[in-house]
Amino acid sequence: MPRATGGPQLPHDVRRRVDTDHADAEHADAGLVTGVLDALPSPTVLIDPDGTMLLVNGAWRAAGDLLDDDRLRVGVGGNYFSVMLSLSDDAVNQQRIARLRELSRGERDLVSADYALPTASGVRWYHLQASRADESGRVVVTHTDVTSRVAAERASAWQARHDHLTELPNRAHLHHLIDAELARADRGPVAVLFLDVDGFKDVNDTLGHEVGDHLLRELATRLTSRTRVQDTVGRLGGDEFVVLCRDCDVEGALALAERFQSTFDEPFQLGERATRLTVSIGVAAAAAGTRLRSTDLVRDADLAMYAAKGAGRNRVRVFSPDLRSAVEQKVLVAAELRDAIEAGQLVLHYQPVLHLPSGQVLGAEALVRWQHPERGLLMPCDFIPLAEQNGVVVPLTRWVLGEAARQTAAWERDGLILVTGVNISAAHFGTGTLVADVHDALEAAGLAPDRLILELTETSVAEDPLRAAAQFAQLRISGVEVSIDDFGSGFSSLSQLVSIPAGVLKLDRSLIATTATRRSESAAAIAAVVGLATACGMRSLAEGVETDDQLELVTELGCTYAQGFHIARPMPPAELAGWLAERAGGRPPAPVQLQTV
Ligand code: C2E
Ligand code: CA
Ligand code: CA
Repeated sequence: MPRATGGPQLPHDVRRRVDTDHADAEHADAGLVTGVLDALPSPTVLIDPDGTMLLVNGAWRAAGDLLDDDRLRVGVGGNYFSVMLSLSDDAVNQQRIARLRELSRGERDLVSADYALPTASGVRWYHLQASRADESGRVVVTHTDVTSRVAAERASAWQARHDHLTELPNRAHLHHLIDAELARADRGPVAVLFLDVDGFKDVNDTLGHEVGDHLLRELATRLTSRTRVQDTVGRLGGDEFVVLCRDCDVEGALALAERFQSTFDEPFQLGERATRLTVSIGVAAAAAGTRLRSTDLVRDADLAMYAAKGAGRNRVRVFSPDLRSAVEQKVLVAAELRDAIEAGQLVLHYQPVLHLPSGQVLGAEALVRWQHPERGLLMPCDFIPLAEQNGVVVPLTRWVLGEAARQTAAWERDGLILVTGVNISAAHFGTGTLVADVHDALEAAGLAPDRLILELTETSVAEDPLRAAAQFAQLRISGVEVSIDDFGSGFSSLSQLVSIPAGVLKLDRSLIATTATRRSESAAAIAAVVGLATACGMRSLAEGVETDDQLELVTELGCTYAQGFHIARPMPPAELAGWLAERAGGRPPAPVQLQTV
């Protein structure tokens, strides 16, 4: 708009008329500006170089009421810079005012910034944008509410750092937190606990992912409730949790590990049933002053956890450097084992079982060995736990079932009527294919079902007694006998025993072994278990009979069967016929009926 003063001199009345026109135009202009400003949804002000507010729009006028903040109830004539300072008199705000002054002087083109405004209803975020309105240095400042955008950005940044299921820090964030702690100049010792739920895969496979997810959330809550304020629980993925313990040495970490284990004492509600679970924990620590990276520390804790699991679940192990090679070796072995089944490297040895009342051989327990091409004959303890952890045990057991059935049928063709025991892992129970796998093996071998005994450990039965009972019942109906193995090593399921339809109770060899040192106590315990078995309609089998004295004792105490080095060590199938013949003094052995008590 050209200024009237800049034009040629005009007659007074004309000038007056022009001035009036001009005033009208200015008036109209101001109306337009106000209209435009009012149409803007964001609080907007026009200020002069000193910050005096020349114009404010409707959104600005409404802001004080909207946010219920008196500091914002300042209108035309008030000072914008003072309003800013009243909200926050900090260095950032001072600098922002300095920038607005620079903008006003034409020393910069734009001022743009995001800032937080704490209000009665929580923090709101605004995007401030200012530009110079004219040569006189007047400045237009708009304040756009970007709270929802900031909230969304923050949420997505939060999500990037957290596990969506448990809301715990995720792998990347955990590593970041551990690295930050390790890098702290004056830090104390740092410990990392690596937790892995035993048998979680079975829960997921048998009860479904929803139940698995529920379990993980429950775990997150339980773990978090047991930590100190300075600890951080995170989830690496799957059922793997990592706990960062600041200012914590190995002893402290072990104490915490114990607390974690005790949270597992209480059963977990999985679907409709309460299930007991256990956890394997690995611990690795970085002493004060040592330089380590998070990836190293977590890997060491992982190796220790792996070793804990390998030693038989529900354990805690502290990392030591020798573990590294031992565990690497085990990982290798687990991978090899899959191929070993295909390559025919597994063999079964058979350990005879004696029927005590008649002194005849009932049959034999099939015990797997791995004829490793480089490492020689490996015993089950070297690879069964690995097979169980790596999902190889089910195919392994299928092979054992098939081979044991085939061998038993072959013996039968040679006139040897034997009943063969096969060990079943708890994991197999969970797959739901056990009954079918057993039938397949019997059918392929052409063997009668009553020539097979499946051995299940007391602990695997205790893990899920209802499911065990259902599968036992199905097997027994079809004629396959079931025994409870290693009974007395845990004594956890004594009360459940009554409801489990097993035909044979195998007394753990630890019960028999103590007869050497504490004969009378041991005898009392054996007698009690035999009595319990009889009361439940089961026959009893004494395992690990190593001496004549033990054999005599278990016979006296009423055990139905016995097995142990004193009778015979496990042997390759080719030797069994010879052993039997030798025992019978050259006469063909008389078969023993399984049902004989
Ligand atoms: P288990 O089922 O308790 O098998 C008996 C184990 O005790 C065998 O060890 C046997 O050699 C040993 N033993 C027998 N008599 C005596 C004795 O008088 N004294 C002592 N000290 N030990 C005796 P082995 O063959 O090393 O098997 C160990 C375990 O490995 C078995 O314990 C069983 O739990 C597992 N296992 C063996 N074969 C298989 C299999 O095919 N599948 C599965 N899932 N597990 C198997
Ligand atoms: Ca067994
Ligand atoms: Ca046993």
